[in-house]
Amino acid sequence: MSAMDKRKFFIGGKWLKPACAQDFEVINPATEQSIATISMGSEDDANAAVAAAKAALPAFSTTSKAERLELLEAILAVYKTRYNEMADIISAEMGAPKVLSEKAQAAVGIGHLKGFIEALKEFEFTSVLPNGDILAREPVGVCGLITPWNWPVNQMVLKIAPALATGCTMVLKPSELTPLSAMLYAEILHEAGVPDGVFNLINGEGPVVGAALSRHRDVRMMSFTGSTRGGVAVTKDAAETVKRVSLELGGKSPNIIFADCDVEKAVKRGTRHVFNNTGQSCNAPTRMLVERSVYDQALEVAAKVAEQTEVGNPAEEGRHIGPLVSALQYERVQTLIQKGIDEGANLLAGGVGKPEGRNVGYFCKPTVFGDVSNDMTIAQEEIFGPVLSIIPFDSEEEAIEIANDTPYGLAAYMDTGSEERAERVAAKLQAGMVRINGSDLSRGSPFGGYKMSGIGREGGHFGMDDFLETKVITRPAS
Ligand code: NAD
Repeated sequence: MSAMDKRKFFIGGKWLKPACAQDFEVINPATEQSIATISMGSEDDANAAVAAAKAALPAFSTTSKAERLELLEAILAVYKTRYNEMADIISAEMGAPKVLSEKAQAAVGIGHLKGFIEALKEFEFTSVLPNGDILAREPVGVCGLITPWNWPVNQMVLKIAPALATGCTMVLKPSELTPLSAMLYAEILHEAGVPDGVFNLINGEGPVVGAALSRHRDVRMMSFTGSTRGGVAVTKDAAETVKRVSLELGGKSPNIIFADCDVEKAVKRGTRHVFNNTGQSCNAPTRMLVERSVYDQALEVAAKVAEQTEVGNPAEEGRHIGPLVSALQYERVQTLIQKGIDEGANLLAGGVGKPEGRNVGYFCKPTVFGDVSNDMTIAQEEIFGPVLSIIPFDSEEEAIEIANDTPYGLAAYMDTGSEERAERVAAKLQAGMVRINGSDLSRGSPFGGYKMSGIGREGGHFGMDDFLETKVITRPAS
């Protein structure tokens, strides 16, 4: 199959050629073959997209809540008709296995959109404060949206939907590794009737297009998901024009296994969660802290899960995991696995190199390290690959101390048979999301982290806040 020609950008409701040509190949990580050619944009392209978004703002920002609800419902309906296409494209561009792509990667595009529809229905854009003053929530303006490649639809929808719900216009710069799902989403938005200029898309490199958006004086808010390094760059670039910045960054989430839980079940679940999406999830529970009395059991169970985890072709049905997204990501993960070995962690399963029989594609071995101490590189740095680090602890206090001893604070997980302990420990964990005994966040709950995991929250009502300005209106009492 020859590579698709996807060189155009979506600006003002039309697919337009870039200001100057700069081709970039989109690689299928399972085959290492090009599946599409895109253009990498320039500052001129970013400026054209911002101008289109600015021009569309006066009309779109004054639409009614009912009109915007109708628009979100229309997007949901069109998305459903193109669902399989979306699942296939995600699988091809980032290597998510077919089942994961259909049941999770594409599915979250429906769940989040529904969450915003529900939130918008309830949302009051004007209210009266207890002191009698009037409070108005207004769209912040033109927004720059920058997304990564690991859950491409998830991250797009968490930004595009609240921007539309609140009456903002926008320019999206998706990851250059996964531009095709974003371009398909642009088609969906257009088909659903999003007015010209409200949504614009420019492909390109972060330090070029992303930086141009972050620095642009007509952009009033940047919403960024990606690495902490990228988030810091966006924040610095945005500072000159004093714009709002919302960040969803990395994580090194602890998963505390107390001896009073069903240890086998908890360790199996936690290990599988780390391997899901080939370890490329910001909220993966990559540091498993295990109470000493059940530590050996946990090592055994986790190693067994790793050995039983199959690595396979994403295009095929099955519960296997796929490749890492790129050659660069493969190299990063290999370097960190080697670092774990060099720093003296106990390699229980996996290790460096490709799994047997997988010489083509960026496939990596599901890996488990035991006897990790929290100051090792593999306990401190986000690996973003299928690598679990297991750390023993002796007391509840020590578990909390280790859990919080990280620059990140995205998620924290815990398994315990004691409700009192669950409540006590949850209150002390520095994380935006604490998940107890295998529970998950419900639709519309705020997703985001403490410390260097970010600023702001995404999803539902909380996810709309960042896209709104606050105006208070007072008048003399009559
Ligand atoms: P990345 O930071 O390299 O890239 C993310 C996006 O930012 C891409 O679109 C990229 O082009 C852009 N970018 C890079 N440098 C930039 C710059 N200087 N200015 C503006 N834009 C820039 O991250 P990645 O490798 O694509 O994604 C993986 C990272 O994302 C991981 O650290 C992961 O934890 C994080 N992540 C966080 C969440 C969350 O919600 N907290 C969700 C998914 C991924």
